[in-house]
Amino acid sequence: MSKAVVKVMPAQAMSVAASLKEVLTLLGEDPEREGLVHTPERWEKAMRFLTRGYGESLEKIVNGAIYGVQCDEMVIVKDIEFFSMCEHHLLPFFGKIHVAYLPKDKVIGLSKIPRIVDMFARRLQLQERLTQQVAEAVQAAISPRGVAVMAEARHFCMMMRGVEKQHSGTITSTTLGAFRANKATRDEFLSLVGRPV
Ligand SMILES: [Zn+2]
Repeated sequence: MSKAVVKVMPAQAMSVAASLKEVLTLLGEDPEREGLVHTPERWEKAMRFLTRGYGESLEKIVNGAIYGVQCDEMVIVKDIEFFSMCEHHLLPFFGKIHVAYLPKDKVIGLSKIPRIVDMFARRLQLQERLTQQVAEAVQAAISPRGVAVMAEARHFCMMMRGVEKQHSGTITSTTLGAFRANKATRDEFLSLVGRPV
């Protein structure tokens, strides 16, 4: 059997902007025309912004915002807007995420939950994985008795191409701990986020 020759390209051999210029040419465009001449640099900047979640960490986000409490009532942050990019088509998907947890002995600063959502949304994503990662991050941060996360989103890859279903939405959810084990707890979450149980 012959040994495969793997050609290793030097990292950063071509900038993101220069690569897009090639893509524009391959699509039959003239990347030098007035409207497009600065597009590759703008696109690179936009893509770096839309994927900035790779540079964030749970430790940095929750730093100092965990408080000991004697509260065991459900905490829910609903209608957190998010914008993400589908990793299969590099097209946006966007919507709302609802996050609930049942504290054991700690709560997390409420403003941190949207920041956790953003950290994972600002990456190339799948809605299913986004939902799961947000739940696991809350679990890791404060070890509550349970976590439930529901995401409702619309995907440009469904709306603009393929099936072209402009009005269809996708719902995903993840439940951990008490939300998984206890139907009444799960139903309370669903009714609080406005979903029929
Ligand atoms: Zn897609």
